[in-house]
Amino acid sequence: MPVKYVESHIWDKYLRTDRLPHIWCPGCGIGSVLSAFLQAVEKANIDPKKLVVVSGIGCTGRVAGYIKVDSFHTTHGRPIPFAMGLKLARPDLHVVVFSGDGDLVTIGGNHLIHAARRNVDILVICVNNFNYGMTGGQVGATTPEGAYTTTTPYGNPERPFNLPYLLAAAGAVYVARWTSLHVRRLAWSITEAFQKKGFRFIEVLSPCPTAYGRRNRMPDALEMLKFFRDNCEIRDFADPKEVDIVPGKKIILGKFVDIAEEKKTFEEKIYELINKYRKV
Ligand code: SF4
Repeated sequence: MPVKYVESHIWDKYLRTDRLPHIWCPGCGIGSVLSAFLQAVEKANIDPKKLVVVSGIGCTGRVAGYIKVDSFHTTHGRPIPFAMGLKLARPDLHVVVFSGDGDLVTIGGNHLIHAARRNVDILVICVNNFNYGMTGGQVGATTPEGAYTTTTPYGNPERPFNLPYLLAAAGAVYVARWTSLHVRRLAWSITEAFQKKGFRFIEVLSPCPTAYGRRNRMPDALEMLKFFRDNCEIRDFADPKEVDIVPGKKIILGKFVDIAEEKKTFEEKIYELINKYRKV
């Protein structure tokens, strides 16, 4: 006789419980980010039937498979173009891209900046664990200078992207950075971002003890969380160009950009054109 699943957790209603247990390593921060996201879905009163979550490839990309809304697990680096097409076809939906730094920034960086430039009406949650976690801990465009990864065994010689600055410069209407330790602030920030229109970007620093932490003297999640506790400083509306992540310096968190004036979105402009030329 099949065993009947009994709901046992407050988030079960939003999860595909038949897919559990999840694949995330013990101590991984992605689950905390997902939990903060679900809190925000409730706080912002988002109808799950009107919510779509798009992910790319990678550990964070698994979110699309676990969340019980219409969701898409797309090809590597391409969740933004999928989300953009979706939003164009169905402007009535809340479209969220939930993916990792390797996927969104290193492989898919070009899509990311152009979606911000166009002011596509999507919310992007970028879980930054400083490396390609799922594929074995390789260096990426967000790996801090000097950090050890499988492909930088002598330390990363490159300067990483300052994501808030990059997205602010590209035109995002809302830009924030939190960590998976700052769950209340993160949930509040996602709630706020849900209520805005236009391209919104939230970076969430998150422990990857398995691939990144153990090569950088933080082999368990608690040490990475203590690192976030001791090395982060909240400074809302700090100048995004000053929030680079530099080893030995405080990591600045907060809401950096929140443009009150509504800018026309990409979809609105496209529909205006369609309506104009339909009449011709
Ligand atoms: S490899 Fe890293 S990011 Fe991936 S599930 Fe494990 S801890 Fe999380």
